[in-house]
Amino acid sequence: MTTMPNDLSAFWMPFTDNRGFKAEPRLLARAAGMHYWTPDGRQLLDGTAGLWCVNAGHCRPQIVDAIAQAAGQLDFAPTFQLGHPDVFRLASLVADLTPEGIDHVFFVNSGSEAVDTALKIAFAYHRANGQGERVKLIGRARAYHGVNFGGISVGGIGPNRKLYPVLAGVDHLPHTLNIAEQAFSRGQPAWGGHLADELEAILQVQGPDTVAAVIVEPMAGSTGVLPPPVGYLEKLRAITAKYGILLIFDEVITGFGRLGTPFAAQALGITPDMITMAKGLTNGAVPMGAVASANFIHDTIVNGAAPGIEFFHGYTYSGHPLAAAAGVATLGLYREEKLFERAAGLIPYWQEAVHRLDGFPGVIDVRNFGFIAAVEFALRDGAPGARGKAVFHRSFDDGLLTRMSGDIIALSPPLIASEAQIDEIVDRLGAAITATA
Ligand code: PLP
Repeated sequence: MTTMPNDLSAFWMPFTDNRGFKAEPRLLARAAGMHYWTPDGRQLLDGTAGLWCVNAGHCRPQIVDAIAQAAGQLDFAPTFQLGHPDVFRLASLVADLTPEGIDHVFFVNSGSEAVDTALKIAFAYHRANGQGERVKLIGRARAYHGVNFGGISVGGIGPNRKLYPVLAGVDHLPHTLNIAEQAFSRGQPAWGGHLADELEAILQVQGPDTVAAVIVEPMAGSTGVLPPPVGYLEKLRAITAKYGILLIFDEVITGFGRLGTPFAAQALGITPDMITMAKGLTNGAVPMGAVASANFIHDTIVNGAAPGIEFFHGYTYSGHPLAAAAGVATLGLYREEKLFERAAGLIPYWQEAVHRLDGFPGVIDVRNFGFIAAVEFALRDGAPGARGKAVFHRSFDDGLLTRMSGDIIALSPPLIASEAQIDEIVDRLGAAITATA
């Protein structure tokens, strides 16, 4: 149905100002390629790949057909003690994309589930390895690792953590954004690599032998696009390796071409021990997430266990046939259209384009990394988020979808965007900034 529904009250919307939204609803009814359409037929250029998901563009027939065919052929099949062909196929395709030595893939249904699964794998690995005393975790301030209890514990978003009980034994690195030092950076900021030294300091307090894993987004996305400072992740890798602590990259946003490579791990030349992913895995078309695990982790848990279930974890819909079909088709499309390489080729143009917004009214920072950018605004009238919301609404009403995170507008278009569409995104956002200044 593409018409407006009569009643908006029953749907309790996630991460939404429900009362504000329902007073002034903005619905999306249809999508194709680089565009969405509202129920009344207005076209929007998609500056955010939906919610960092739709890397190949919307409603691509290859993916649509694969899902339709799967729905008619095998609507559901358990993956507990059974399996179906596409889920094995997809795991191999994912393993082909992950760095060498990371060849085992555990399927889940979302980024949040991927994170909690990776944390469980870390605990299971250490126990299987005779180091069951490694029960602590280290995350980072301003990290978003989804909304499940493990994810909010290692995450670093105030309201996510303060409103709910969280896991004990979790510490946090400081985040890496410092506008005074990094403003208007292009790519990785030169300042901030030293912040990784905090890991040593935390470990000396916690005891490195008690820590199971460090989890970071290679580039924090949801809290406003925080590109990693030069040398920062290299240091985290060296310190975790030194103490036998697992390093998890949460690549729910950075995976599948956002940085011009399959994963940030390749763009940055750093190999973690696990990679969590979701979103672009199925081009957003069917919910699915995954954890790709280093062979030594998988082998320690699986090969070292007594006969029987080796890892006590899984979801009814792990590797669901529709999601697996969507994943196989999506990865095929990425490959056939060389979309990761395409994104890599667009990054220099993208960088120049977004920095045309430097100096616009109220703009205190423009930063970019890969095929991602953020524009950050000064507070308006002392009200956090007011200017961001005004720009987001104005852009939407003028035909551009952006992502608002407080006073930050994030951009991450589908990887099929043309240079003309990049210009259009920047021009429309610039006009919205000026109009709401
Ligand atoms: N991890 C990261 C880095 C994310 O950006 C997100 C969502 O944006 C998640 C985890 C949670 O994913 P989901 O919303 O699919 O649970």
